[in-house]
This record gives sequence, C-alpha cells and structure tokens, in this order.
Amino acid sequence: MSEISVTLPDGSSRRVPAGSTPADVAAGISPGLAKAALAGIVDGKLVDLSYPIAKDAAVRIVTKDSPEGLALYRHSTAHLLAAAVTNLFPGVQCGIGPATDEGFFYDFVVPRPFVPEDLEAIEKKMKELAGQDLPYERQMWPRQEAIDFFAKRGEPLKVQLIEEKTQGQPEVSVYTIKDRGTFVDFCVGPHVPSTNRLKGFKLLNTSNAYWKGDAKNQPMQRIYGTAFFSDKDLQAHLQRIEEAKKRDHRRVGRELGLFTFHPWAPGAAFWLAKGTTLYNTLANYMRDVLFPSGYVELKTPLVYNKALWETSGHWSHYRENMFIVESRDGEPMAMKAMNCPGHMLVFGSDVRSYRDLPLRFHEQTPLHRNEASGVLSGLTRVRQFSQDDAHCFVAQDQIGDEVERLIRLVQRVYADFNLPFVAKLSTRPDEFLGEIATWDNAEEQLKRALDAAGMKYELNEKDGAFYGPKIDFDIMDALGRRWQCATIQLDYQMPQRFGLKYIGADNHEHTPIVIHRAIFGSLERFIAILIEHYAGAFPLWLAPVQAIVLPIADRHAEYAASVRDRLAAAGLRVELDARQEKIGFKIREAQLQKIPYMLVTGDREAAEGTVSVRSRSGGDQGSQSVDEFVRQAQAEVASKGEQVTGLAAAS
Ligand SMILES: [Zn+2]
Ligand SMILES: [Zn+2]
Repeated sequence: MSEISVTLPDGSSRRVPAGSTPADVAAGISPGLAKAALAGIVDGKLVDLSYPIAKDAAVRIVTKDSPEGLALYRHSTAHLLAAAVTNLFPGVQCGIGPATDEGFFYDFVVPRPFVPEDLEAIEKKMKELAGQDLPYERQMWPRQEAIDFFAKRGEPLKVQLIEEKTQGQPEVSVYTIKDRGTFVDFCVGPHVPSTNRLKGFKLLNTSNAYWKGDAKNQPMQRIYGTAFFSDKDLQAHLQRIEEAKKRDHRRVGRELGLFTFHPWAPGAAFWLAKGTTLYNTLANYMRDVLFPSGYVELKTPLVYNKALWETSGHWSHYRENMFIVESRDGEPMAMKAMNCPGHMLVFGSDVRSYRDLPLRFHEQTPLHRNEASGVLSGLTRVRQFSQDDAHCFVAQDQIGDEVERLIRLVQRVYADFNLPFVAKLSTRPDEFLGEIATWDNAEEQLKRALDAAGMKYELNEKDGAFYGPKIDFDIMDALGRRWQCATIQLDYQMPQRFGLKYIGADNHEHTPIVIHRAIFGSLERFIAILIEHYAGAFPLWLAPVQAIVLPIADRHAEYAASVRDRLAAAGLRVELDARQEKIGFKIREAQLQKIPYMLVTGDREAAEGTVSVRSRSGGDQGSQSVDEFVRQAQAEVASKGEQVTGLAAAS
C-alpha cells in the first residue's frame, strides 16, 4: 500500500497509508486527541473525520477548542433538529440549517406553524437521537440519483439547491444520520462524527421565514436553537438571553417613561420628559468633552438641494436611503442623512490658512435615513437620530497627531461609562481611490497614533472605506455583547469633490483631509446600549431623576417641598412624591423607577432639618443633613460614581 506524508501544525510530519482519515491521524497522535476530534482540516479545507486523505497534505485536527469547532458543532445540531422534525412530522420539507453567531436555525415547510409544545417534543426527540450515538455518514451519490431521490420524496427545495449548487459535478454529497430511513439531507458538510457528541443544546423559538429570505418565495417556519459544548456554557448563555430580555431597552424605556413611538412616525422616537433629560445630559456631556479639545459646534441645514448630494456623491450612491422632498417651486431636495457635505460647505465658505488647521466642526442636529420599515427596531434601527458627529480638517502631516488626540478622547469617554472597548484598524481595500503611497502614509500614521495612545488593536486588512483607512471601536456591555460605536475615518475624497483649499506655509493652495469621527455614534443607539448595559439603573450623573423626596404623612409635605427646592437649587434633578400613599408603597415605586436616592421625611427629619436617605442599591443609609446630602450627591455626580452591577461585574 502506498504511503503519504501528513504535516501537523507543529511542523512535524509522519508517514501514513494513503486514504488515511483525520480520525486515523488523531488516533496516531494520542487517544485523547482521537476522543476530542470533531473534524479535520486538510490543506486548509474543513472536512469530516472520515475524509480519506489521498495525497501529501497539511492536517490539523478540529476539537472544541479550535476556532472552527463551535460552528461545526452547531451546524451538526441543526441536522439533528432536522432529523427530529422529519421524524415527528412526516411529509415536512427541509430548507437550510446554518450555524449562527448565537446558535443555529433550520427552515421547514410545514402544514401549520409550530407551537411551543412542538418544540418540546422536537427537543425530546433530538435528545433521544443524540443518546443513540448515531453516526453522521457522508455518501457520494450520482447527481441525478440525488435529484430524483429528493424529487420523489417531495422535497423540491432540496432539488433546487442541488441544481443550483452542484452544476457540472458528477456526484453530490449527502449526509445520513444512521441511515437513509432515519435522516438524509443534501449538504456539503462537514459534521461531527456522531450524534452523541452533541450535548448542550436547546430550542429557543420559532418565526416565519421565506425560502431564501425572499417574501415572494415559499413561506417557511424557522426554528431557532443554540448549542454549546458543555451544559454549563449553555446554561450561562440561556441566563444571558433571559437577562437581555429583562433589559431590553424598548421594555425598560416604557417602564421608566423615557420614550415612546407612534405608527405615524415610524423609526422616530418621541422623547418623553425623562428621556429628553437623559438625551440632553449626554449631548451636553459630549459638548463638555469636545469644547476644551478645540471643537466648535455648528448647526447646519436639514434639507439641501440635490446639487449638494450630487457633489458629495450621495445622489448616485445613497439616494434610496434619503428622504427626498420637493420645494413648492419644484426644486428637488433631500433631507440630510449625514452632516459631512454641509460641513464641506462651511469649510469652503471662508479663506482658510494652514494656521486654522486642524479645524474641528461638531454638530448634533437630527439626521434622517429612509430605512425600510421592516428593519426598524426600538432605538437601535431608526429613521431619525442625532450623532455626536464631527469633522476634523487636517493637513497630511497632522493626521497622526489628530488621530492620537481622538483615540484619547474615545478612551476618556468610555472610561466615564465604565465600558471596556477594543479598537480595529481597517486598511486599504482592493477597490480604492487615490495613490498607494498616500494610503501607506496614512495607515502608518494611524498605527503610530494607536501605539502612542497605548491602544491595542485588531487589524482588519482591506476593510477600509474606498476613500480612506479607518479605526472603529467596539464597546462591551455588561452582558458581554459587543457594539460598534466610535469611528475615526480618514477621507481624502470629499474635500476634493467640494474643491476645498487652504493656503499652506509655502503660500500655495492645498487640499485638506477630513476625518469623520463620532464617539457615541447615534445618540439614540447609544442610549439603547446604555439602558441595557445599566438595566435602567443609571449612575447618578445620568439618572433623569436623581433623588425623590418622600414625605411620610401630609403634615410633612411642606418640609418635603422645602427639601426638594433646596436640592433643585443645588442643581440636582429631584422630584417630590406628595401623594397620600403609604411610605412603603412610595419607596417601592421609586425603587421600580430606579431612582438612585429616596429621601424620606417625617417628624424627626422635619424637626432636625435632615433627610433619611435610602439608596437604590444599598437600602437605608441613615439620616443626613440636607446640606451634607447635597455635597455628597454633587461629589458623586462629578466623579461619575457608581460601578455597573451587571452579570459581567458579578462574575
Ligand atoms: Zn450539514
Ligand atoms: Zn462625516
């Protein structure tokens, strides 16, 4: 028998008989690896453990610790789901069942929608099949035989998939679980070797779906599930899902009276009194950060003639995302979806010298984007929003310094919210405008800025915009979820399109470079993230209502009102609950409203000029003079105080 040579990740190689499989290779290394093996990677291709290796190859064994492990495991669990469904619901048609970031799903054509009892029965069947340790077997069938097989079984969708995906191939791969009678599916694979590898899985919910995601196609039912290598990881994930539901900003926003929506203004929030306070607190916080850093604030028009959008390029590339309006004399206009083109006009409205640079324009006016109604969701996908937007106009040799300043601003802002974050540098894509040397110089300056600011970063090669490289920042919330917020984007093109010039030290005209940058991103989306991050229990400096005065009885109402007035005069956001309710009831309500401090006032407090302080997180804090409470509260606001109490903080 002929031998081949397999090279392992450590660089060593060994001789094995031709036709050996990754399972054989794993067994040759150690019994432990043979047991842990899920699949193989042969010359960079992910394959089943049973894949025969025909010629010399580099081989890596995939285990649960491999980067490919979890997706493979979840996709295999999706097959187990399909096997259980076809078993319990004869005549059902299978669509596709991919792994996702959070788990997996599978789409089916069924005579009636699934109900929760179905999911229970299906999951039970999955466990039963997993317990039987049934092998996943890859079989190569002649293409026509596979088409005939699935056609005869009444699975036209599978026939369509085979016809589309395997044109010109003599054979196609199908997978059975146990045998053709139990389950057979057309799939390129690979999968785990057998069902008993699948331990921690759970079906979560169902939704309506369409074949290939197109509403014109066959309606289907999608079952979502998730899977982890251990039950412990699965339980932790399920707990995070529960916690995320409780923290859902749409729910918390309603409970705390922050904002509401109306069908007549889809994707545009109505900010209620408390929400507006929160919104303005963040907007003003950002002003306080930016003004000392050399920014000026502008207010530019919301509606522009299409000539502006033609100059910026948005009319040809972005028009369907903008609200197009018409003036009464027929002038075609569009509502602004971003501030940059307006800022170009402001830059161009005066003679600029190198001495004016960097020139930093900040703006928070509303933007509109014409999102499809189907994708609108709470505050995270909206049609109207504002950004903590700014454009910094710089000379080529100022890029590095300016970006370093920006990174330090990002670091400072996220520290104020106790939000950990990571940076990603995206470099020149294949399709780009401008000179390679200019790009190289810019990328070099960005790297140096990141290093100078002590910022570790991930490198996303070729992921920059066509007009310049960029740095994006992902924040991590209390549930461990990543959200991209801040962005720093270099742009060589837009200043050129608008013909912007400044007079250099050499007395010649030069084109500035613009840096588009935001730290919150959209205020609406950032508030959604904060609501879920803090679970509505905002730290004192952000809380829309910072303290509430609770008189015990009617006779204390006058003193309570005087306490409220003193706090308000000291700049604290304070309310008075003078209703004729029991004090315990008032405290419970204030607690549900997540108000940081409750100040109970009764006979003793009125006589001594004190308040009895209860904190949202720590209960009874004893009594304090009103002045003392004010001093402490102001200090807490100034320090931005209070750490997050979330799952991440607790674990
Ligand atoms: Zn598959
Ligand atoms: Zn911009």
